[in-house]
Parts: sequence; C-alpha cells; structure tokens
Amino acid sequence: MGVGVSRLGDPILRAQCRPVSDPAGNQAVAVADKLKSTLYSVRGDLGFGRGIAAPQVGSDLQIVFVCIDEPLILINPQIEERSPEMVELWDDCLSLPPLLVRVRRHRAITVRYRDLAGRPVVLRAEDELSELLQHEIDHLHGTLILDRAHGDNAIWLREEWERRARGHDG
Ligand SMILES: [Zn+2]
Repeated sequence: MGVGVSRLGDPILRAQCRPVSDPAGNQAVAVADKLKSTLYSVRGDLGFGRGIAAPQVGSDLQIVFVCIDEPLILINPQIEERSPEMVELWDDCLSLPPLLVRVRRHRAITVRYRDLAGRPVVLRAEDELSELLQHEIDHLHGTLILDRAHGDNAIWLREEWERRARGHDG
C-alpha cells in the first residue's frame, strides 16, 4: 500500500478530534488533500472504501471525506437530527480491512458542517450517505464499527463471509 492508513490498535483511532478553528485555512486544506489522495489510493488496493476520516491519516482534526457519487469534504460535522427509523448492514472500515461488522444506523440524519470555503452547510442525508456519514463522524469521536457491533455473531472475517456467501450460491 503506497499511502498509509492508521490501523486498528493505533491510538489515534481512539482520539477525540478537535474542531477546526479555521475551516478555510491551510491546515484544513492539507488534511483534506491527504484524505482524498489516501482514499483514492487505498480504494484501488483494497477494492472498497467510500469514505475516510482525519484520524485514519494521522490527524486529530474534525474532517471527513466521503465519495459515493460525488466527493464531499465535511469540516466540523455535527449530527443534528437522527431518524427513529434504523437500518442494519454489514459495514467495513479501511482501518480494519479483514473484518465485516453488522451494525445499526439511523436511516436518515441531518448534518451541519463547514465546507472548505468556511461556509456553513446543512445536509439531509438518507440511506447509503446517511450510514456512511455516521461511520465517518464516529471516527472523529474515537468510535469504530467494532463498538457498534449489533446482534449475535456480528463480527466476521471478510474472507469467511465471502466463502459462505459463495457456498450458499451453490
Ligand atoms: Zn472507518
């Protein structure tokens, strides 16, 4: 892997990240650039990866980058509303790539953040973008998918999950 991602066990993944004081400043731009280049690089190596958070590139600032249909940098993101409706899914994480974890997330959330120009933004996110943002914002508070494991037998080796999925197909 050309660019390093912090891996499970690195204390930075358990840090409480600090708000960015100047969202349009050089420091935020530098972290945002590192998040983008790292995600694109590891996504090529691992074959998955829709988002990444500052602690995964060694920074304790509150910045995340997600890229589903379009790239989006969020600075100081705060979840303001959470739908009562929940969804369950198998989630994965660049910091613990061999694992799949069954988690529950709010189906929709409202997030308030700053963009890289420092402008305040309010975003209503649903479905995939909602669960992804909950995952990345968790990172800013030292929370990993392992801490969200939901139900019996909720933590799997990806390899075993895929082996069994293939088996069921015949
Ligand atoms: Zn993650």
